[in-house]
Amino acid sequence: ASLSALAGQYAGLNLSAPVSLDAFWMPFTANRQFRASPRLLASAEGMYYRDVEGRPILDGTAGLWCCNAGHARPRIVEAVSRQGATLDFAPHFQMGSPLPFVLAQRLKAIAPRPLDHVFFTNSGSESVDTALKIALAWHRMRGEGQRVRLIGREKAYHGVGFGGMSVGGLPNNRKWFGPGLPAVDHLRHTLDIARNAFSRGLPPHGVELAEDLERIVQLHDPSTIAAVIIEPISGSAGVILPPPGYLQRIREICDRYGILLIFDEVITGFGRVGAPFAAQRLGVVPDMMTTAKGLTSGCVPMGAVFVSERIHEAFMQGPEGAIDLFHGYTYTGHPLACAAALAALDTYEEEGLFTRALELEEYWQEGLHALRGACPHIIDIRNYGLIGAVELAPRPGAPGARGYEVLERAFRRGLLVRVTGDTVALSPPLIVERTHIDDIFSMLGEVLATIQ
Ligand code: PMP
Repeated sequence: ASLSALAGQYAGLNLSAPVSLDAFWMPFTANRQFRASPRLLASAEGMYYRDVEGRPILDGTAGLWCCNAGHARPRIVEAVSRQGATLDFAPHFQMGSPLPFVLAQRLKAIAPRPLDHVFFTNSGSESVDTALKIALAWHRMRGEGQRVRLIGREKAYHGVGFGGMSVGGLPNNRKWFGPGLPAVDHLRHTLDIARNAFSRGLPPHGVELAEDLERIVQLHDPSTIAAVIIEPISGSAGVILPPPGYLQRIREICDRYGILLIFDEVITGFGRVGAPFAAQRLGVVPDMMTTAKGLTSGCVPMGAVFVSERIHEAFMQGPEGAIDLFHGYTYTGHPLACAAALAALDTYEEEGLFTRALELEEYWQEGLHALRGACPHIIDIRNYGLIGAVELAPRPGAPGARGYEVLERAFRRGLLVRVTGDTVALSPPLIVERTHIDDIFSMLGEVLATIQ
């Protein structure tokens, strides 16, 4: 397929050769289907994308749950461009630049205590694998090298590294790639449509599912378990919320057996649920927190692992001059990413975006739940902060077909949504106004009404 006819419409790009869709192998995409009917975004500003034909598309998903401050914010763009002209790259091992130090200090100030130390990565997947490795190394360093078992959950998404894949619980992300890490168990997930359908906010039923952890701990010698990793709210599986008390109970069980608790806050971090992190809103503090996405408002790739004081401290006890953690990336603390993150944090703080999801939650919730009658196939609607999900019953014999139709028709209608199977998920930039919320639900309602 060739897009030469569209090439001239790319703002700011001088594409002298025709654009071919053949060479780029798109991730998580039905590539052949896409080439036959491409959806291509050419520019973005504030709450809107424009596609290559110049049509505005309201961003219902903050890109991919990452552009929390909206698009092309001049302050962030200028910070990145200035940084590129000043210091484009600096190695951050055995030497450094001031930027990641400044950024880590800023992040410490908004993180729950005692998550006082920050390890930088380039993505959510890298953050997850980094946290899992720190957990294993921490136990070993303290003479508990037998603690090697990791516990994730069914339906969890923790990125695509071998660690994240192994603790993740989405069959399609696992089954093609061999056995993954040994010694991994999975708790059940907390999605229970039969009992919790159409509940608003956290679902009332299911706190007892936390006892799964006790069961798995007892199945093994508790002293063999290194860490439990949980998304406080999962996005990629189609938005799964924790029943009240569930995370508290997981925390208690971890504490009782000396197991580290990792929250994967890659989507919930940086204001998505009305606090800097879900841990704060939900009132449970993990031992480590993995983040990415909203850290730079999606503008430059970057991730960060927040590490508690006691974990970090153990690594600082070795002999003077010995390397404390054999792990890291060429681009750890990349200056452009740090500049983007610092400007994003300035924007979040000055515009009150960390609490915006809380202010808009009720309006968002009412608009979302009003979609219930839009389509007879809707079996559940879920929401928390500025997150929403509408789940459709699968079409018999064609799971995912209804979801894909919603994605495709919403895009043509001028609305960006994300679908997982037959669940439509929404997570707009935190600068969203009530009028945008009205537009999101009115367009989505129109589209849902056409789904057979
Ligand atoms: N963890 C969670 C909870 C995520 O939602 C994602 C991405 N959606 C990841 C990890 C992986 O992040 P990345 O795609 O940046 O590697």
